[in-house]
Amino acid sequence: MTKTKEHWDVYSPSTGEHIYTMNETDVTEVDSFVAKSKQAFQTWSRMDFSKRLSYFANLRNVILQELDQTTDVIAKDAGKVQMDALVADIMPVLDFLKFLESSAEAILRRQKVKTPIVFIGKKSYVEYMPRGIVLVISPWNYPFQLSMIPILSALVSGNTVIAKPSEITPYVGKYMEELFERAGFPEGVVQFAHGGKELGGALVASKPDYIFFTGSVATGKIIAKQAAEHLIPVTLELGGKDPMIVCRDANIERAAKGAVWGAFTNSGQVCMSVERLYVDETIYEPFISAVKKEVAALTQGASKEHDVGSMTFHTQVQIVKNHVNDALVKGAVLETGKNPTDWDEDSMFLQPMVLSSITNDMKIVSEETFGPIMPIIPFKDEQEAIYLANKSEYGLNASVWSNDIQRANQIASQLVSGAVIINDVIISVANHHLPFGGAKQSGVGRYHGEQGLRMFCHEKAIMQDAGKKSNEIQWYPYNGKFDDFKNMIEAFYGNQRKWVRFLKSYLNLLKKSK
Ligand code: NAD
Repeated sequence: MTKTKEHWDVYSPSTGEHIYTMNETDVTEVDSFVAKSKQAFQTWSRMDFSKRLSYFANLRNVILQELDQTTDVIAKDAGKVQMDALVADIMPVLDFLKFLESSAEAILRRQKVKTPIVFIGKKSYVEYMPRGIVLVISPWNYPFQLSMIPILSALVSGNTVIAKPSEITPYVGKYMEELFERAGFPEGVVQFAHGGKELGGALVASKPDYIFFTGSVATGKIIAKQAAEHLIPVTLELGGKDPMIVCRDANIERAAKGAVWGAFTNSGQVCMSVERLYVDETIYEPFISAVKKEVAALTQGASKEHDVGSMTFHTQVQIVKNHVNDALVKGAVLETGKNPTDWDEDSMFLQPMVLSSITNDMKIVSEETFGPIMPIIPFKDEQEAIYLANKSEYGLNASVWSNDIQRANQIASQLVSGAVIINDVIISVANHHLPFGGAKQSGVGRYHGEQGLRMFCHEKAIMQDAGKKSNEIQWYPYNGKFDDFKNMIEAFYGNQRKWVRFLKSYLNLLKKSK
């Protein structure tokens, strides 16, 4: 991709073809984005819920009508195969839109909650009020769903959104903007700013009411610091180094197929991809053989029929090269794939690499690689596997493979991770009823599910009294009430409630509070 302010030529990393020419948003435009967003908030936030949802249904239908084209744009811009674009980027968005259409109103409406008996006569509610302008900053690896799901989650309660998609996949950003236009969303409700980190920084500095960031740990920390100065709440969805634990009683064929998909889908450029594979030493050799057999059957290219696409941008290729070289120098064995010395410098395709003879000082064990590598490491017993899996500064996702579901769950419960999947990989992100997010350096906060919609709202507690009584028992005057309160507290909060004593003291208090 080559770029000047007015002229941004976008090329596909997999085919090298010129796919689009677009304009970059200038940082001087940020103020007008904010003004438009504020203006649109006035009507969007007050709009009848069912009317607001009608735009979501329009969007779903526009995406469905343009399914082939949307798939093509994502596949070409990111260098991913079309299946990855369709199934992992578009399908979750359609599923999420359906979820919003069926459930958002019930999740975001005023909720009645219990009121303790000592507050007889009162009612309590929780109300969800949109925050205002939400800034959504997204990465390039799943450029569609990682922008769309937070944008839609914020919009549905009445927030307006300024989205800054990744500059590495700018055509997807432009295409998403056009989809919202074609779905008829009112002007200013969702705006797209196209550009890189300078623009991202200017948008953060514009003091939005909430920031939803997905990307690297380094950028997440910069944004968190900037946001902290103005106490802007943030969600940070960051990197991962996800472990997969294969127990001796696992279904080896399934685990090998799952590992290969989990490590190499999207060329391993997945925050939740399998980046460390821990295998019980008693099945280590047959497991490696099964994995190699699966890898040998993979096809690479840019069509509907291929399994693995290209890398998305050159910098990431250099990181993978650096990690693989570091491992090979320290004694790792390349079981499949090419040694970096044999890589074609002009190609963005990297062959899937399985590595054995791994030691803990290698970067492929500790740092996020975000590429098509699979280091396989034997373990002696479950406790060692849990220890090794947890020995990471990351904690986004993990998986445990065993035919003994109880044992797999016991291991899962001991992993410090935002999610653990049993006998499968990555898939938890596709269930919108589950929270998504990371532990440790993998992030702060969760989205998806009920809380993923409510977090974009001010959660407001409302307690209501009919207002008929002239006084309350805890109001003035205090004179003569202390012993009644003490009696009431002892009767109410002991191991067994003493209702007669409670009522007597309560009625005394009422009398004294006329
Ligand atoms: P990145 O941090 O380089 O960039 C992410 C976004 O932030 C881009 O839009 C970029 O323009 C913007 N940005 C960069 N510097 C900024 C600044 N100073 N102020 C404001 N915005 C700024 O990350 P990336 O390379 O695009 O994405 C890869 C990373 O994202 C990996 O670490 C991956 O694990 C992580 N990721 C996490 C999740 C998750 O859900 N946890 C999902 C996908 C990717």
